[in-house]
Amino acid sequence: MKFSEVLGQEEIKQRLIRTVKEERISHAQLFFGPSGVGKLPLAIAYAQYISCENRTELDSCGTCPSCIKFAKLVHPDLHFVFPVFTNKEVKTNPVSDHFIEQWRTILDINPYLTENQWYEAIGAENKQGLISKHESTSILRKLSLKSYEGEYKVMIIWLPEKMNASAANSLLKSIEEPYSKTIFLLISENTELILPTILSRTQMIRVAPLKSENIAEGLQKNFPEAQELIEDVIRRSNGNYSKALQMMVSDELDNTHFEEFTYFMRKCYKREIIDINTWVERMAGLGRERLKLFFSYCLRMIRENFVLNLKQNDISFLSKKEDEFSQKFSAFIHSGNVYDLTSEFEKASQHIEANGYARLVLMDLAIKTILLLKQPEKTD
Ligand SMILES: [Zn+2]
Repeated sequence: MKFSEVLGQEEIKQRLIRTVKEERISHAQLFFGPSGVGKLPLAIAYAQYISCENRTELDSCGTCPSCIKFAKLVHPDLHFVFPVFTNKEVKTNPVSDHFIEQWRTILDINPYLTENQWYEAIGAENKQGLISKHESTSILRKLSLKSYEGEYKVMIIWLPEKMNASAANSLLKSIEEPYSKTIFLLISENTELILPTILSRTQMIRVAPLKSENIAEGLQKNFPEAQELIEDVIRRSNGNYSKALQMMVSDELDNTHFEEFTYFMRKCYKREIIDINTWVERMAGLGRERLKLFFSYCLRMIRENFVLNLKQNDISFLSKKEDEFSQKFSAFIHSGNVYDLTSEFEKASQHIEANGYARLVLMDLAIKTILLLKQPEKTD
């Protein structure tokens, strides 16, 4: 990863580049600050810059053998430590090396990784990661190795606050009596949980929230078709790029669900069976997890429309677009059908969960919906 691939943070980049130029690279540095601002990408870009064989005043070259290995995070002098736990594959004494392939893959997709995203990627079931004493043994072994190629060995420790006491003490010892040509880059979101003795021996680098224009730059690259949504997300992201990315994905998904839901309801209302059949074919291809998300979206829309029908607008939670659609549609969701509709969508979701044949489940749901939309409102 080159510095130019890291969003914003120009001052810090300059400061890091100067340490290399002036040959005063501190052997233990700690990047700290809120999540989603690019601490990990900065550390990786810095390590790549240090090892680059053709660096310029501004950046690493991106093309030398060292940079190419860095781009894949497979450089033999680049080591990673991060919190892990046991899972189905790693049953005892988990250490970072067991998970290095997943780590490389997920960083390749999103270097602005959050702690939770990492735990989900390695199969968390409400588990918390830890950097344990087994890890410190592995760290010491790596430090005792000679550097392969580059001058420096770099050890990036992501979330050192997750170290238990024995790992922290072992790290402290390595920082106090440094191996030559070894650099520790620590990346922390909560320095209060790190041993003060470690903090006092590291150079602290505060990484601030990102500017709106930097977040915009990153989002535009990833979502070129969604300008309107980007502006909205930036307002809510608070300088946190990880959060902005998550909001983009979930808002985009909601938007797709909205389109599919409104299409389905219109077609059912008009009883356009040929179009419904095409829709069923398309939706059946989405897969189980996506369909379940879609059904839960539909259930929310049915509930909200019923509320709107009862004219209790102040307790509705609809986006602008959803609200516009629902102003008319809510007339069709009433006491005469809301319970049956809800139960049909819930049943469809359960059948999909139980590996039911998606085409049949969706077609059955369409037929029930056609009938229920014509159901008269109850009068007492
Ligand atoms: Zn290079």
